[in-house]
Amino acid sequence: FSRLKESLAKTRETFVEKIDQVFTGRKGIDEELYEDLEEVLIQADVGVQTAMTLVERVRKGVKARNVQDPARLKDIFQEELEYLMGDKISPINTNPDGPTVIMVVGVNGVGKTTTIGKMAHNYKEQGKKVLLAAGDTFRAAAIDQLEIWADRVGVDIIKHQEGADPGAVAYDAVHAARSRKADVLLIDTAGRLHNKGHLMEELRKVHRIIAREMPGAPHEVLLVLDATTGQNALSQAKIFSEAVNVTGIALTKLDGTAKGGVITAIVTEMAIPVKLIGIGERMDDLRPFNPKDFIAALYG
Ligand code: GDP
Repeated sequence: FSRLKESLAKTRETFVEKIDQVFTGRKGIDEELYEDLEEVLIQADVGVQTAMTLVERVRKGVKARNVQDPARLKDIFQEELEYLMGDKISPINTNPDGPTVIMVVGVNGVGKTTTIGKMAHNYKEQGKKVLLAAGDTFRAAAIDQLEIWADRVGVDIIKHQEGADPGAVAYDAVHAARSRKADVLLIDTAGRLHNKGHLMEELRKVHRIIAREMPGAPHEVLLVLDATTGQNALSQAKIFSEAVNVTGIALTKLDGTAKGGVITAIVTEMAIPVKLIGIGERMDDLRPFNPKDFIAALYG
């Protein structure tokens, strides 16, 4: 928990401290205060829609409790934020009958390879047999990077040559996972956005092949988003979820960014649960997302 708290320092500075400033030194609760609150929320990457919802809820809370003192707004705000974020922890799906197949998607640079490496590490720590698949055959560097992680963590990797068919990699990986009795198969995919149509077609094809070779798979399609991109993360979520059935989100780089407020927008505006958060570059810096802990780390 202390590591989480430490990693959220930047977000705490912009989000919590600026919001506190809105509530302090006021004579009363007026329209200007609500406008300032909305502005601070939007600046903290909470998103326009969520900022408006949140302010509206605070306004109603104030009315319902007949609050006059601005100093009490902090507690009301925190309660409403907790309400919007919910208290649900969404774990990564598992397959009780064999290998759990996890397809990992996202734009280049968001931290896809790192997240796969950290997940492999976590599963291995739990005593699980892990297999990686280098499905981004478009970039030789992507295959190399994944191999570095496989070596570092000490797990096997299925890879083909650069330029090979990613569908063939997925096919081999699913069969290898079965025959080697792996518990978890983590499949990397390409993330070049310069030709969005091609990429989405490729992802759909990989998804189709996985499902054909193992009915019920992939058990998880994890979309990796970079918190430092703020509202862009939301547009990426929309693009990817139109192409494949995204079942969970991993939000990376929450450490060292002031844009951590974007998680509020993702939680409230997307129908896909945030399952993991990345809070640093170390192997153990990937955590299940627990909204209660997250808010406590921001405020505590
Ligand atoms: P990919 O292109 O999506 O596979 O991205 P990479 O996994 O190569 O990551 C891009 C950069 O982001 C690397 O320098 C990673 O170390 C860094 N990175 C990934 N996740 C995190 C995180 O949670 N926190 C921080 N600070 N850096 C991260």
